[in-house]
Amino acid sequence: MFESRLTSLLRPDLAHLRAYTPHEGTFEVRLDANECPPLLSAEASDELANALKPDSFCRYPDARAVDLRNAIAAHCDADPDEIVVGAGSDEIIALVLTALACPRAGLPAPTIVTPGPTFVMYKHSGRARGYTTLEVALDANWDLDVEAMREAVRLVRPNVLFIASPNSPTSNQYSLDRLEAVIAAAPDALVIVDEAYVDFAPRTQIHLRKAFPNVAIMRTLSKIGFAALRVGWLLGPAGLVREIDKVRQPFNLPVSSQRGAAFVLRSLGAEVARIREVVIAERTRLSAALVKLGFGVVPSAGNFLWVECPGSADQVFRALAARGILVKHFPTGAGRISRHLRITVGLPAENDRLLAELGRCP
Ligand SMILES: *Cc1c(COP(=O)(O)O)cnc(C)c1O
Repeated sequence: MFESRLTSLLRPDLAHLRAYTPHEGTFEVRLDANECPPLLSAEASDELANALKPDSFCRYPDARAVDLRNAIAAHCDADPDEIVVGAGSDEIIALVLTALACPRAGLPAPTIVTPGPTFVMYKHSGRARGYTTLEVALDANWDLDVEAMREAVRLVRPNVLFIASPNSPTSNQYSLDRLEAVIAAAPDALVIVDEAYVDFAPRTQIHLRKAFPNVAIMRTLSKIGFAALRVGWLLGPAGLVREIDKVRQPFNLPVSSQRGAAFVLRSLGAEVARIREVVIAERTRLSAALVKLGFGVVPSAGNFLWVECPGSADQVFRALAARGILVKHFPTGAGRISRHLRITVGLPAENDRLLAELGRCP
């Protein structure tokens, strides 16, 4: 069957890849995926649901997503020609890597450099497109190790660097001077500054795209309450955007996603601001309570916490899961990473329940 007849057609590197699947199973409280808790008001939910409706089910969506790109342009102080929209940042990552896949002279494959630990999709998407990927360890405070990043850039001459700041799973925003130093060290690579969590951070780094010609900024609606829409975008130089658009499927973003995202950006600003305040207040409360229970917590700039367990993180993970609470753990991570859990800030009642169960943990 498939195995015998088509195996020889498969790219051999796929043998080392596993499909990304979120943790399965039913849990009463899911704090594993950094989704925003359901804090949108009933009125806003209704308005958004109305905004999603297509004029006609028979027509393709706008291939150029003009209205949505205009809404993003106004929201991000950019030109519509500097914007690519995708089905989440995940698609943007794939598009960037598809367009910039030419290996450097003398190298067998195009390459990616990221600090690490970080968002898994950079590496996954890169490997799916034949890239070599190099992850450079963050320093003891989970900040960028500029010297090591410089060395990596010199060594593998990356096509693309992905730098999530705030970073997942570590939750911190990198020092601006270090981020600038890394960007300056890779003038002929594209540096994607991934601002998926910027709504919860003290500052944005969006100005870097004007300060450095090799920087593009990536944003998403997924973490601020609209993961279901699957809308992310890239802000970059118009010349790069034009090239990326050539590898984008023309109808990549459904009508409902285009309309919903435009509505969120134009009309739900006050709701989003309120949600942000609730999440940040809960983040502060949860963090203080975890420290009282003996956990180490990195000061977070995201909607989640990077929590160091005094004992076995795996044991805590299992104890929570047995009581219906799912968090993210890194059992196969090396060394210090495996002592940590990544915990999304949930609804106040969910956070209370998490704290109660942790208080009971061994
Ligand atoms: C969650 C996350 C994203 C979001 O991806 P989408 O495809 O837009 O949902 C992007 N970058 C980082 C670092 C993330 O943690």
